Amino acid sequence: MSEQALLSLQNIIVKREENIILNGASLVVQPGEFVYLIGRVGSGKSTLLKSIYADLPISEGEGRFGDFDLKHIKRKQIPFLRRELGIIFQDFQLLTDRSVVKNLEFVLRATGWKDKKLIQKRISEVLEQVGLESKGYKMPHELSGGEQQRIVISRALLNKPKMILADEPTGNLDPITGEQIITLLREIGDAGTSILMSTHNYALVKKFPARIVKVEGGKLQEMQLKQDL
Ligand code: ATP
Ligand code: MG
Repeated sequence: MSEQALLSLQNIIVKREENIILNGASLVVQPGEFVYLIGRVGSGKSTLLKSIYADLPISEGEGRFGDFDLKHIKRKQIPFLRRELGIIFQDFQLLTDRSVVKNLEFVLRATGWKDKKLIQKRISEVLEQVGLESKGYKMPHELSGGEQQRIVISRALLNKPKMILADEPTGNLDPITGEQIITLLREIGDAGTSILMSTHNYALVKKFPARIVKVEGGKLQEMQLKQDL
């Protein structure tokens, strides 16, 4: 038997209000695979990521992530699904009223961690992974945009996710900082976590090549770098 896919979407239909946004979209992602999601503004990239995160329901077709049936998932199972996903969304930013460590601790406690020592250890590990082990005491506003995005990535890593969903993670960053963030995501990918990242930044896609999937007309299509993006 071939290795089981981590994510498998087959002919899914996803609506927002009454509008069909994804209409027969299919995508298979293997463990450890890095995939760029491209497509025009409003094509449905965020919609796709939200359907994997069970933030939007799949109306038709089949969706599976690991052991979860995304189409029939029950409300009480959603936190367990989300523990296997690291989320880097623009509308999912740091809490501004507390330090970096307190931000990370908040997520661990909310996902069932209780042992103080283990919590501190895990926080140190993820901060080290993103190269910010000395910044834990800082408030979010004391960090640069790139540093804040690294903290958001460290937060996504807390529960050792099988896949990271990143919605335009370099969108608000200058080119050099964007390259540093993508390098970090690629390292995380090389360590075995799948990454599905939406982006409009074709310069980065060209510089850091990986599989490319385009959202167009409600469907998903594999793209080659040599084609004009
Ligand atoms: P962008 O590149 O601008 O981020 P996108 O590819 O992520 O675009 P989506 O945000 O998935 O696109 O939006 C797809 C479609 O869904 C758009 O036509 C949009 O108008 C619609 N849409 C987005 N958010 C909502 C919402 N909250 N309620 C209803 N429709 C929405
Ligand atoms: Mg979007």
